[in-house]
Amino acid sequence: MLQDQTFLRAPGPTPVPDRVKHAMNEPMIGHRSPSFAQLFADTSERLKPIFGTTQPVYTLTASGTAALEAAVTNTVPKGEKVIVVVAGAFGDRFANICEHNGYPTHRLEVEWGRSVSPEDLKNTLQEHPDAKAVLLTYNETSTGVMHPIGELSEKVHQYSEALVLVDGVSCIGGVPGNMDHWNLDVLVTGSQKAMMLPPGLSFVSLSKRAEAKLTDGNPSFYLNLKAYQKQLENSMTPYTPAVSLIQGVKEVSEMMKEETLDHVFERHHLMKDMTRAGIKALGLPLLTSEEDASPTVTSVKETAEFKPDELRSLLSKQFGLTLAGGQKELKGKIFRIGHMGYCSPVDILTTLSMIEMGLKQLGVEIELGKGVKAAQEVYVQNV
Ligand SMILES: *Cc1c(COP(=O)(O)O)cnc(C)c1O
Repeated sequence: MLQDQTFLRAPGPTPVPDRVKHAMNEPMIGHRSPSFAQLFADTSERLKPIFGTTQPVYTLTASGTAALEAAVTNTVPKGEKVIVVVAGAFGDRFANICEHNGYPTHRLEVEWGRSVSPEDLKNTLQEHPDAKAVLLTYNETSTGVMHPIGELSEKVHQYSEALVLVDGVSCIGGVPGNMDHWNLDVLVTGSQKAMMLPPGLSFVSLSKRAEAKLTDGNPSFYLNLKAYQKQLENSMTPYTPAVSLIQGVKEVSEMMKEETLDHVFERHHLMKDMTRAGIKALGLPLLTSEEDASPTVTSVKETAEFKPDELRSLLSKQFGLTLAGGQKELKGKIFRIGHMGYCSPVDILTTLSMIEMGLKQLGVEIELGKGVKAAQEVYVQNV
């Protein structure tokens, strides 16, 4: 087919809108210039509603993992205990970051494909009253589960003094950040998922409580958030930032403002419902329950009739469609459809249609058009 036509439906990186690409092609400016200061003051302000906070949002030139590492190392003193909810590959990574940095880490393991129950978290908090932070994954990208962050945060604050640190990398920009409303102490996201930007930036915001924990003695030089805090007062970053990407942030936030954040969030919900209805109509098993389902990524399980990795490879060759596979214990057992950021209901129809054609060619007994039709019906009922 068309060699340059691709459909990127992985849960990151995600497609970048043309408007944003153009914005990133603006002439380069010096990162100590008044023009940059003006740009950066503006983008830092525009990120606040996306995070749902009135607190400053710091921009790091580094991928999401760096901001997660910064979240812990800047707010939890070395050697103090942390609790990490591990319900997939990214919870596991958050725990690895803690272990690597020498924190005694208690992992609250949850079956992959399910959300953690607030009751289990409460019990864990009572068993570990000395924990100084609870680390949560808002949207577990490896399974397509969205955890009830508001409820979990409430439990933590009710039963302990621990800080609530949240990895929102694969959903902020597609679902409400609610940082202030839910009393989250640290919220982190990255540029390349629901934020519609290329990889390379991450964003982190701290509550007043978390801010009070910042010290000059952070073990990392580059990730010392005190330096970012100090420089943000001058609308600058401590080191040379990815200026072009920050030009992109301005355009992205403008797009979200034009659409309105409420509509952005509704669109993600609708895309989730359309995707799930389509997959169900084809008779394929979904990994997650309706209640746990993520608005940004949907996981579909293998059946006796097809191997997810074969389907992905066929769709990639024939149509230039990128779907994600399973990670770690789910490797080879699922495929994942990313529907976040620059993705519309029409993209869901195209994606389902390609999946149907792929399944048919692999000999799976499905009726062509049945998934698309179910998704169309969801669309028509919801607009
Ligand atoms: C993608 C992702 C990350 C990792 O981000 P990088 O930008 O690859 O460092 C962390 N957490 C979640 C939930 C993610 O989806």
